[in-house]
Amino acid sequence: MTATIIDGKAFAANLKEDIARKVQILKDQEGITPGLAVVLVGEDPASQVYVRNKNKSTVAAGMNSFEHLMNDDVSEAELIQKVEELNADPSVHGILVQLPLPKHINEAAVIETIAPEKDVDGFHVINSGLLATGGQGMVPCTPLGCIMMLKDKLGNLSGLDAVVVGRSNIVGKPMAQLLLNESCTVTIAHSRTKDLAAVVGRSDIVVAAVGVPELVKGDWIKEGATVIDVGINRIEKEDGKTKLVGDVEFDSAVKRAGAITPVPGGVGPMTIAVLLKNTVTAACRQAGVEEPV
Ligand code: NAD
Repeated sequence: MTATIIDGKAFAANLKEDIARKVQILKDQEGITPGLAVVLVGEDPASQVYVRNKNKSTVAAGMNSFEHLMNDDVSEAELIQKVEELNADPSVHGILVQLPLPKHINEAAVIETIAPEKDVDGFHVINSGLLATGGQGMVPCTPLGCIMMLKDKLGNLSGLDAVVVGRSNIVGKPMAQLLLNESCTVTIAHSRTKDLAAVVGRSDIVVAAVGVPELVKGDWIKEGATVIDVGINRIEKEDGKTKLVGDVEFDSAVKRAGAITPVPGGVGPMTIAVLLKNTVTAACRQAGVEEPV
């Protein structure tokens, strides 16, 4: 068997088009322009690239983008004050504080300051609690993108055996929760899991979010399984150049899986698209209007 490649780029492009259409409806019919504020502390080059891309995509979707750049010696109190200002600003419907923050700032304290209804990253404890109890909160972008791709590929996920490799608060745990909400039988595997090969081998759905290059071997994959590779790892090739690989050994996994996301071009492009989707959802909820279909 050779797996179908799940094209995250195309999926994200469609989603962005749909979001732009909804934004136009909100502008025309409700007079609402969804607004996303991104706070970037310091000059980390990778974070600068992410923030620039988020800004470009937000504007391209017809939404307002507000960028707040702060020096890396900003105090925790000043950053919290900035978040409070954004909480109070009615033109801002979504707030994202780009992580990681400098070491002298307590990330959790900053995230907990974001008004839960504006927390488009879905990292606030209120939003994790709502996800865990089946309430209506904001869902973290990367796992939400993964579940959208899985449902698009497989339709009903009910009863399927799923494994999530990795238990981080931003990917692994919310991913497992989303799969559980779809009535999958979910295993969360991590660095202490005894026989990862066996756990992966019995799973219809494999989501890898570890950050270890090609940790999940292709010959572990159950024939026909759907594989979602969240990992983004830069490794050095024999010629000294670098390339991006996922957490799954793609070349061998593609021969056993039914469908698989590539790295790059799989989960990555979905994350920003879902951030825009969450901002539209947040804007509609804050205005008390139905989200356009
Ligand atoms: P993290 O470091 O916070 O968590 C990694 C998890 O992997 C931990 O829970 C740990 O228990 C588990 N783990 C570590 N070694 C393991 C092993 N040998 N066997 C099984 N489990 C093991 O990472 P994260 O933030 O969840 O990110 C994971 C990966 O996903 C990274 O490569 C990151 O770059 C990528 N990522 C991609 C996107 C995207 O948009 N595509 C978004 C977020 C993260």
